[in-house]
Amino acid sequence: MDDYDKQIDQLDVLGSTQTVIKQALTKLGYPTEMYELLSEPLRMLTVRIPIRMDDGSTKIFTGYRAQHNDSVGPTKGGVRFHPDVTEREVKALSIWMSLKSGIVDLPYGGGKGGIVCDPREMSFRELERLSRGYVRAISQVVGPTKDIPAPDVFTNSQIMAWMLDEYSKIREFDSPNFITGKPLVLGGSHGRESATARGVTICINEACKKAGIELTDARVVIQGFGNAGSFLAKFLHDAGAKIVGIGDAYGALYEPDGLDVDYLLDRRDSFGTVTKLFKNTITNEELLELDCDILVPAAIENQITKENADQIKASIIVEAANGPTTMEATDILAERGVLLVPDVLASSGGVTVSYFEWVQNNQGYYWTDDEVERKLEVMIKGAFNNIYQLSKSRKVNMRLAAYMIGVRKMAEASRFRGWV
Ligand code: GLU
Repeated sequence: MDDYDKQIDQLDVLGSTQTVIKQALTKLGYPTEMYELLSEPLRMLTVRIPIRMDDGSTKIFTGYRAQHNDSVGPTKGGVRFHPDVTEREVKALSIWMSLKSGIVDLPYGGGKGGIVCDPREMSFRELERLSRGYVRAISQVVGPTKDIPAPDVFTNSQIMAWMLDEYSKIREFDSPNFITGKPLVLGGSHGRESATARGVTICINEACKKAGIELTDARVVIQGFGNAGSFLAKFLHDAGAKIVGIGDAYGALYEPDGLDVDYLLDRRDSFGTVTKLFKNTITNEELLELDCDILVPAAIENQITKENADQIKASIIVEAANGPTTMEATDILAERGVLLVPDVLASSGGVTVSYFEWVQNNQGYYWTDDEVERKLEVMIKGAFNNIYQLSKSRKVNMRLAAYMIGVRKMAEASRFRGWV
């Protein structure tokens, strides 16, 4: 590690990502100018969105849209609505989207958006006004061949529908290919809602084969019960695995004989909250350290750190959330022989089916559920095995191998374009 790396605040997701990008580019033999280009987004737009609230007052919200690199194609990535959104986080998330696209070999660069707000405390109509206001504010820089938004934390197909409608009004023609994660009736794709969890499930299956674990006997802990965590619990439960722990933003549930997943799915609210209904809860910290075979952090950033990495019992960790493990924790887990499937690979199912959705919109020809599922499986399996093999042949951890593969295509494209 050089001085730059030593100064990194482990909880600063942008600084950590830049460090791994630097390591990946160095391993691939690129000059420092390439790191200068790829360490920050090409463009970052900050907007202020005035919204009339239901009580008649006006509130000004701050929003962001980052476009990391468009050498391969238009930028692509979700929009999150969350009180903790920051400019640095959105920048890091846009870089991760570039890496995901590179890993699955999609014709995109990375983009990401965010609005600082708490949708849990807003009404349906306030959320509609905010979604439309955001699109009006960023309409100049987005579009089907420029930058294509999608859902992320606390945004869903209804919010995509409002955004699509606002964009189509501004452009004066219907533009389903402007945004993905839409409702089916507005040009959404089969399989998009469960795509992130499908991708994670495929990675878990592949990881189990490598680690010699039978999924049907495995005990699984999932932190997060939102879009990814809830579908994942269902898929793994149906595959015969025992879901022994589940957490949400307020706490966690533990049942060594396996939780009643169908009951919990039935009782969760639209923000993925379920533990509030129970008295005997444990903390999220305790959840991560439970005795299990497979641990899936599917919530937020910086959950596995140097403080708890030694206490983790799982032999496989599959990161369904973006950025749940710090760099120091990644090193500790690698030394302990834990197989860690990194976020940029494990959570790439969402953007992959978003790509399928955009292709279907461009063609005006729609695929069946089975077609989507088959195509997704081929792409994620291929990506997993490429990264696994590279990590073995170059003797690097899966995260660095994923970054090497993820960054290569955009570095090559940037070079061909004569940017570096
Ligand atoms: N928000 C998702 C992600 O972080 C999906 C992005 C997309 O579908 O474009 O990967």
